[in-house]
Amino acid sequence: MTNWADKELWGWGRYPRVTARCARPERRREVEEALRDRGGEPVLAHGLGRSYGDAALVSGGRVLLTRRLDRLLEFDPETGWLRAEAGVSLEEVIRTFVPRGFFPPVVPGTQFVTLGGALACDIHGKNHHVDGTFADHVRRLELLTAKGEIVVCDADHEPELFWATVGGMGLTGVMLSMEVRLARIDNPYIEMESIRVENLDHFFDVSAESGGHTHTVSWIDCVARGPRMGRGIFMRGRHASSSAAPAGPGVGERLKAAAEPILDVPFDAPGWLLNNVTIRAFNEAYYRKQLKPRTNSVVHYEPFFFPLDFVRDWNRLYGPRGFLQYQLVVPPDPEHRAIRTVLEQITASGMGSFLAVIKEFGERVHGGLSFPAPGVTLALDFPNYGQPLFELLDRLDDVVAEAGGRVYLCKDARLKRAQFRRMYPAWEAWRAVRDAWDPDGVFQSELGRRLGLVPGSQP
Ligand SMILES: Cc1cc2nc3c(=O)[nH]c(=O)nc-3n(C[C@H](O)[C@H](O)[C@H](O)COP(=O)(O)OP(=O)(O)OC[C@H]3O[C@@H](n4cnc5c(N)ncnc54)[C@H](O)[C@@H]3O)c2cc1C
Repeated sequence: MTNWADKELWGWGRYPRVTARCARPERRREVEEALRDRGGEPVLAHGLGRSYGDAALVSGGRVLLTRRLDRLLEFDPETGWLRAEAGVSLEEVIRTFVPRGFFPPVVPGTQFVTLGGALACDIHGKNHHVDGTFADHVRRLELLTAKGEIVVCDADHEPELFWATVGGMGLTGVMLSMEVRLARIDNPYIEMESIRVENLDHFFDVSAESGGHTHTVSWIDCVARGPRMGRGIFMRGRHASSSAAPAGPGVGERLKAAAEPILDVPFDAPGWLLNNVTIRAFNEAYYRKQLKPRTNSVVHYEPFFFPLDFVRDWNRLYGPRGFLQYQLVVPPDPEHRAIRTVLEQITASGMGSFLAVIKEFGERVHGGLSFPAPGVTLALDFPNYGQPLFELLDRLDDVVAEAGGRVYLCKDARLKRAQFRRMYPAWEAWRAVRDAWDPDGVFQSELGRRLGLVPGSQP
């Protein structure tokens, strides 16, 4: 018998919050059992809860917390192929395999995500323009489907189910395990260059000449207006060669993976802490920290890939109302009109974003509900200002959809269905595959219901 317990859950943005009956299966047999014991209610997998909005939430349903499905099953040091359970986190992969000279092929801005969450959101990293998304490095997965069968799927066997699960936001079944190919590294360091960019045109110039760097991203001051609009700090880099890594400690020591978070936010900050004034001051100070136009350094992978992981629970800084992240991608446009309009609308609204990053994606696309597409992606964090913010984001949706772009579902908590359908024209084909495997809508989420991705969603 499965042990179910009521639990309030939320995503990283801490908005919305939902109560569900949760179980923590430790073995695949217990996942199968929980699916049978669901009492006719809908089910959803939940990893480390790092999606921002309502993708990993389901009210009136059963949630399978997958973190204890955390076994590393098989590794081939010749090829880098790792077979692991879906609740293994990237942090665990890094801690285990960096000392052996391997690194995950694609990482997001935090290492506290599970393999299942990474594939269900088809995550991208700073190397998208070179290495594509996480799914580009996964060759096989095991999925527990609505009928209680375990289906092994890959490019040859049930490829439609495989690709519907990639970016499928947990709505095709529960992933039990997968095979992912780790990338070889010489040491845990990154050769990095930081460039101060003066405005949006400058950003695109630097981005265009950065193709030789495997990793690129730019922080952007989204409060700056006029000729300074789009100013920021462009960071580009690559895993360091052995000759570039700092001398000193022995190889074993240098390969040691770091570290626990060093700061903690033990309680919710007051709601006023992040307001227009503090956001403006932060953006100004961050821009000024890059004193020289260009600097070169060799840094450990942690501050390069996961700068925010040093502060545990930093999402509590946004106070009890939480925050929303808005991430968009728009197709290439020599005049960058959509990006300019989005930035203009944000500055005009007075609702600045505390953190904002911009990057040009590469060419690879996966269809279905997968987010990355050729063009420019911009990600912005907004304190939850309530209705005025929701209205602003609706206006940004118009700009993005009009430009042929889309917003990232794993960050979303409020996109409207009509806009979603404009942004993801492949949704119907995706839904047909999903429904064929789960006609009764066993797998559901708040996001799935809101966007009409599951049977029985309100019209
Ligand atoms: C600070 C920060 C930075 C980030 N940076 C990036 C970035 O650069 N690029 C990027 O792409 N994303 C980024 N993200 C988002 C993050 O990578 C994704 O939300 C990721 O999916 C989170 O994994 P998780 O284990 O927490 O999944 P959860 O949030 O728990 O779940 C996300 C989705 O995956 C599904 N899911 C989880 N496990 C399974 C499973 N076993 N089987 C089936 N479905 C499952 C859930 O149902 C849900 O729909 C960032 C998030 C944070 C907090």
